Amino acid sequence: MTQERYRERLAALRSRMGEAELDGLVVSAPPNVFYLSGFRGSAGVLLVTGERAVLASDFRYRLQAREQALGWEFVEVKRELFSALGRTAKEAGVRRLGYDAAHLTCERRDELARGAEAVELVAASGMVEKLRAVKSQEEVALIRAAAALADRALSHIVTLMRPGARERELALEGEFLMRREGAEAAAFDVIVASGPRSALPHAETSERELSAGDLVVIDIGARVHGYCSDMTRTFAVATAPQHAKELYRVVWRAQRAGEAAVRAGARCQEVDSAARTVIAEAGYAEAFGHGLGHGVGIEVHETPRLAQGEEQQLACGNVVTVEPGIYLEALGGVRLENLMLVTPDGAETLTGWALPDELPEV
Ligand code: ZN
Ligand code: ZN
Repeated sequence: MTQERYRERLAALRSRMGEAELDGLVVSAPPNVFYLSGFRGSAGVLLVTGERAVLASDFRYRLQAREQALGWEFVEVKRELFSALGRTAKEAGVRRLGYDAAHLTCERRDELARGAEAVELVAASGMVEKLRAVKSQEEVALIRAAAALADRALSHIVTLMRPGARERELALEGEFLMRREGAEAAAFDVIVASGPRSALPHAETSERELSAGDLVVIDIGARVHGYCSDMTRTFAVATAPQHAKELYRVVWRAQRAGEAAVRAGARCQEVDSAARTVIAEAGYAEAFGHGLGHGVGIEVHETPRLAQGEEQQLACGNVVTVEPGIYLEALGGVRLENLMLVTPDGAETLTGWALPDELPEV
């Protein structure tokens, strides 16, 4: 990211702080620290006031902070990072200091309070997350690059799928390809879930060997310069059972309906409903127990969430997944997942891998 971009982010945060009547904010969740400052160390906390932008960390990160967090004042702390930040806020004249209640432990909050003394502490969650939900062009370019790597990894995995191949080996092959071709890491542990294990929405890849007739769900993403991608496809090994083909068609139609509902101004729960209705009308309402999708960026799961009860409206620059699924204990599961960018004219699919309209047999 350019320095200009970091300045914009800080200015946008300060304006949100103003709306919340906060004259100081402690930012502690690492993805938020990275977003605002570029710092990627595991132990760095930010204090933002009207005039100051402070990164506090310890000796181990002194050089890294200088390299990564340009324009941030570095404060080296020996012990009790949060009480030191509280003191800094007090000395800077902060009156109302926000902190991320969804991230800060009770212990750390107490520490912050000890240092801040009379400064009022205010629980303020989600301020940076809301900024992160709208991606800049540079961010979209990184997510696009991450999606392209996952596309290639999936193609590679497909060439290796056959009866006797192990889930774990397939997952490893996919991860290896992504890293060799430029990903800094997989965005999450690659999921290869076959046979009855495909019915677990968040299956862990196992030593199981694929056998003919299995459904195989592959969920994969790469991380490029801190930004993630996320996609899922379902296959049948050799010949697919008829029931599996029917399930696939239902999920495919739900996928298309969900994608068609993604546009600026749509309420998140309406997008979820567009896909959920298709699955419910086919009689599988109970077998689709998770939300339709989630935001993707610095984290694989971030705001906005496409789910029932989410009133929030989508905005241009949001990057979200659409991932309906049907999970049946006896038969297995089918899930499809595309990554979508909300654009001025609707939405663009960032996942390049084709979405077959029939269950692909490999
Ligand atoms: Zn996924
Ligand atoms: Zn996902």
